[in-house]
Amino acid sequence: MLQLNNPMDILKLLDKSNCRECGYPTCLAFAAAVARGQKRLDECPRLDKELTEQFKEQGQAQTSDERDMENIVAQMKGKMKTLDLQSAAKRLEVPFSNNIITIRVLGKNVYVDAEGKFSSEIHLHHWIIGPILNYIIHGAGRTPTGEWISFRELKDGMTWYNFFLKRCEKPLKKVADTYPDLFHDMLYIFNGKQVENHYQSDISLVLLPLPKLPILVCYWKPEDGLGSSLNLFFDVTASENLPTESIYTLCTGLVIMFEKIALRHGGG
Ligand code: SF4
Repeated sequence: MLQLNNPMDILKLLDKSNCRECGYPTCLAFAAAVARGQKRLDECPRLDKELTEQFKEQGQAQTSDERDMENIVAQMKGKMKTLDLQSAAKRLEVPFSNNIITIRVLGKNVYVDAEGKFSSEIHLHHWIIGPILNYIIHGAGRTPTGEWISFRELKDGMTWYNFFLKRCEKPLKKVADTYPDLFHDMLYIFNGKQVENHYQSDISLVLLPLPKLPILVCYWKPEDGLGSSLNLFFDVTASENLPTESIYTLCTGLVIMFEKIALRHGGG
């Protein structure tokens, strides 16, 4: 199903005339604004009215998702104020100094203070900030074992599996299919590590979105009339280091980041 959080899907609905009537220089720029929640789909005057109606409900759901994330982040910031940050740093085995904890996110330092305020060299949105705070508050600091399992096998994974499929694996496969530099960017911009091919995949690489939460990305190229395939795998300790609901949120945040990069560099 087409998703209003995916700029490439939104672009397919537009007439691609780049007429500028919406105030944006291109249909692609407008699609990106809709995906970010800054514009509504029906603000393109050239869009078929029936289509607008069809996606209205979904668009509202998306907006409420964003609001939910903002609320969750606000609640977590409240919890941060009562947390002993130094003990949390010890539990997670991460640096702590001047009442600031340092978390490595995709190879970049992210600094978080006792009020849950962030500073970082990478742009972080609520879908990533929420899981980082949850990691600091609830993470057990277990060292990954190297044993990979699917999302469904995580604690409560079945509860979140359909969301995970819809918001994470399927859109990421779409980015991989349409943006050939995705894996290159994962390696070089996000400090990924290419690993021995798992599950007979064509590409296997490991990302480290949080210090003890590796994610294995496996991609199978299309072959002999069969479509491509993409799966994410997690260390068997993952749910102890971050609640599964937050792992789903984190993966959604990563996919949003990758989609934006693909869009900026002309994928899709
Ligand atoms: S008004 Fe619609 S068709 Fe024209 S540029 Fe904007 S999105 Fe594209």
